[in-house]
Parts: sequence; structure tokens; C-alpha cells
Amino acid sequence: HQVELKRLKNEPAVTADNIPVNLFANVELLEDIRAARQSGADGIGLFRTEFLFMNRNDIPDEEEQLKHYLALIRSMRGLPVIIRTLDLGADKECGASEKRNCPNPALGLRAIRLCLNNIELFRPQLRAILRASAKGPVQMMIPMLSSSSELDRVIELIEEVKQQLQDDGLAFDRNLPVGGMIEVPAAALSASLFARKLDFLSIGTNDLIQYALAIDRTDDSVTYLYDPLHPGVLKLVRMVIDACQQHLTPVAMCGEMAGDPRYTRLLLGMGLRQFSVPPTSLFEVKDAIRRCDTRLLSVHIDKILASDDPQQIHAAVDDLNTLH
Ligand code: PEP
Ligand code: MG
Repeated sequence: HQVELKRLKNEPAVTADNIPVNLFANVELLEDIRAARQSGADGIGLFRTEFLFMNRNDIPDEEEQLKHYLALIRSMRGLPVIIRTLDLGADKECGASEKRNCPNPALGLRAIRLCLNNIELFRPQLRAILRASAKGPVQMMIPMLSSSSELDRVIELIEEVKQQLQDDGLAFDRNLPVGGMIEVPAAALSASLFARKLDFLSIGTNDLIQYALAIDRTDDSVTYLYDPLHPGVLKLVRMVIDACQQHLTPVAMCGEMAGDPRYTRLLLGMGLRQFSVPPTSLFEVKDAIRRCDTRLLSVHIDKILASDDPQQIHAAVDDLNTLH
């Protein structure tokens, strides 16, 4: 099947009724970039920078990070690259950081919280991403935003770093787009706040589902409850898409839900036009996009979103996938 789908590499991600969709790849290690390029992705929608910090005993400095980001940009040959700032903490530990005793790591100092708490860790990364932006179409993405003051602090810091780079005579893109991930239910419920202040949003369903359903994504004993089609989850996703449409802010989804072709029609019907998926899922999702006529979806989508019966929702999504 994969071999058969490979012929889609040079075909555009466009629906049967000619709506163009952006299909990006998620990348963790530089080794994955080859796979991303071979999949024909429109760019990198999520570069997980924390992987450079893991499984080692020191912290990569600004120059090492810059090299890493430049390698990414070079291999993508002019395609856009979204670099996510550090998402350490919770299940992703940095070898060099001291082990803190946190009773509930997923709810503790992780991702942007950790970075704002440790500016000396964060600043070199901001500098490296900004310097990389002089060499290609880079965008910066902030994980795990939950509050307005947190976002304001990040934006302030980026401006500070820009000023320093300018003083140091180092080149960067003055208009570097800055986006945020919506992974916390309260951020989804107040998505308009983030849509107004940021250049783009990306829905991180892995964490959004974990937090919305109170299911630890690393705890196997509760995976049976993990359901992207839970009516509460769908409402949150819809809210983010709606808020972005209102503010004309581009919105993507980069959690695993985006890479599952069973949900492609549903997400297109909910208005999503940018997907970022693991390179291994790209052809399947592109195939689902090309088979989808969005004009047939709206009645079904309204029914799905109005339902609070999980069984009914699952059945309706199955029906959606058999429409021709
Ligand atoms: C997510 O939470 O959906 C996401 C893409 O981020 P990560 O899986 O790296 O936490
Ligand atoms: Mg996440």
C-alpha cells in the first residue's frame, strides 16, 4: 500500500474539490529530515528541538544549536521550517539538568514554563533560532502556552534578544513569525487571545487530549480512555480553528491526530487546512485529502459536533470516511 501511495510524492495536497491543503512533516532528529524530504512535505511543521538536549550530559551552546538549525534549513532547500522552542520536562528529560523532585511533571515546570524559569537556558536558543532565520524561511513556535502574561513575557524576551543580536552585529529576520502551540484546554478555550497576539497557532493534540481528559499519555493503564473523538476534545479543536478564522491567523494541527487518515475528513470538515504529520503518515494523509470532497462534509460535521454520544460520533466519522 505504501509503495502504491509513493506515487503521490509529487502530487499536490489538494482536495477533490480543489481546496489546497498544506501538508508539513514533524521532525525530531536530523536523520528524520531525509524522510521528510522524500515524503514531499511542504516544509517542517514541527521541529522538536529538545531531542538535541536529550541523552547527553551537557547542554548544547548557541553555536551548536545554530549549526543544528542551519543543517535543517539547508536540507529543506528553501521550504518553510517551524522550529519549536524547548519542550523539556514531563516525559522529556534533559541529561544535563538537575533532577528536580516534581510530584506531577506534566503539570509542572515543563516547556515554555521551564524556559521562562531558566532564561540562561532559553536565551541561547532564542539567539540561535533568530540567527538561523537569516539563512532561510524559519518560524518559531512556543509550546504549552497557558496564559497571556506568559506569552507577553516570551514576546518581550524575543524583542530583547533581537536588540542584542543587532548590537552584536549578527544577522536575523526582523519579521520572524512567532506562533504558539495550543495544548492546554484553557488556551483552547481562550484561543482568540493567542490568535490575536501570535502569527500562527498549531494544535498539539497529544497534550491537549492528555490534559482535557486527564489521561497521562505515558501511563499505559489509562490509554483505553484516550479518545481524539471525545466530544469535549472536538469542541476544543473547533474553538481553536474558529478563533483563528475570526482573526485570520493561520492554524495547523501537529499532534498525532493530524497524522491519522481516519480523522482527515473530519478535520477538513472542521475547517483545518494545515496538517503536520510524521513523514511515515504523509502519503496516507495526502491520499485521504485528495479523496475528500469538502462540499459533502458540512451536514455530517454539524451532526458530529452537536453530538455528545461518543458511540454516535465514532459511527458518524466512519460514515464520513465512506462518502464518495
Ligand atoms: C502535541 O502535544 O500534540 C505535540 C505535537 O507535542 P509533543 O508530542 O512533542 O508534546
Ligand atoms: Mg506537546
